[in-house]
Amino acid sequence: TALNQEVLEAACRTLGAAIERAQTQENLRQVNEQLEYSSQLKSEFLASMSHELRTPLNSILGFSDLLLRQTAGQLSDRQINYLELIEKSGQHLLQLINDILDLSKIEAGKVELNLQPVRVHELATDCIKMMQPRADKKRIGLSLELDYRITKVLLDERRVRQIVINLLSNAIKFTPEQGQVKLSGRLVYGSEIKGDYRPDCSPINASTPYFCFEVQDSGIGIPQDRWHLLFRPFQQVDSSLTRRHEGTGLGLALTKRLTELHGGTVSFQSVCDRGSLFRVWLPLTEMRQQLGHFASCALDTKLVPASAIALPIGSKRILVVEDQPFNQMLISEVMELEGYGVEILADGKAMVDRILAASAAPELLPDLILMDIQLPDVDGFELMRRVKADPVWESVPMIAVTAMAMPGDRDRCLEAGASGYLSKPLDLNLTIATVRSFLG
Ligand code: ADP
Repeated sequence: TALNQEVLEAACRTLGAAIERAQTQENLRQVNEQLEYSSQLKSEFLASMSHELRTPLNSILGFSDLLLRQTAGQLSDRQINYLELIEKSGQHLLQLINDILDLSKIEAGKVELNLQPVRVHELATDCIKMMQPRADKKRIGLSLELDYRITKVLLDERRVRQIVINLLSNAIKFTPEQGQVKLSGRLVYGSEIKGDYRPDCSPINASTPYFCFEVQDSGIGIPQDRWHLLFRPFQQVDSSLTRRHEGTGLGLALTKRLTELHGGTVSFQSVCDRGSLFRVWLPLTEMRQQLGHFASCALDTKLVPASAIALPIGSKRILVVEDQPFNQMLISEVMELEGYGVEILADGKAMVDRILAASAAPELLPDLILMDIQLPDVDGFELMRRVKADPVWESVPMIAVTAMAMPGDRDRCLEAGASGYLSKPLDLNLTIATVRSFLG
């Protein structure tokens, strides 16, 4: 009976635990339901509030504007001053409402990007023009620096404008008179993020190319013990009521969310009283597929004619035979970062000419060839055979690059004379390792 008692007790305990688990699960389900409901209520509330707030704001802004035009009669300086204050406060409220609505929409997953090939130079120039009056008011030098190898990037134009404007207005706001603010747009690799502070650990791929917008200022900087507050909604480094700079505290939070929607991330560096550098990383790889048919306009190849690329003295030279501009840019960027000189040939005919030229003048020989097999006008295999058949070229290692990646492709390439084989999309680390294995 003692044994029976024990078995009974054990059974009761098991049953009790099972009931408890079921109850917990039921509670969890209810809490989830409530959360969903509150989230929906919040969205509805925000949508209706923003409408309710916008309507009276429209009158406030509209009528103060009308009065400021002084069509209904002359105003005294004092009255103009009051009106300007009313209008400015109205604008501030409107901005706040828009930002809150934006942020809550993003958080509710309701913002969809409208991705289009965007001329990034134009976008950056527009933003600079827009901010110029504000900079002039504080006699701040506003400059622009752009990487001319890339002209179009697949982005949501309106959102990226919003991001750049946010960063520029912060830079101008937190930079004393006669300071400097610079906007740059560059092609960079994930590995370059190393020294930056990041608000989270969102994944960043060292070998992914990014289009990076940078805003650098010579302003007040941000004390390191405050860095963790940045990019959170409603956080301001100086939150005292007497703070000198007005703002909603939503700009950076929005910037971060909008960048993340693009698959990117944000980072910064800052030194007190010296200035800050904010970066927005927009990945280019995810776009590679879609970029295919924009590729011809994605790069302004006129600006980087192969012949004009000066090869660093003493560095090994790589000849890249590749017709797709985006891949040309990707490969040359990676190889140049590795310290190699790169020469690009965009089609098979140029390669045939090049073979002939170097046969006559062997000093023109490259140290390695990266050859795309699918070229528009010439059979890549045939081209490789020609290289191998030429006594001057024969010893140059040749890596075949192909998107075919079918079983047997590798052997076909090796048979045609390739020393190595890489498949597209290129794994950049593997590409670098393969090139290194031939060039040491
Ligand atoms: P807001 O500018 O409206 O206050 P943000 O989210 O854009 O809100 O910025 C949050 C805070 O981060 C700012 O209040 C400021 O304290 C700090 N900050 C942002 N950008 C800079 C900058 N370029 N230099 C110094 N501090 C900055």
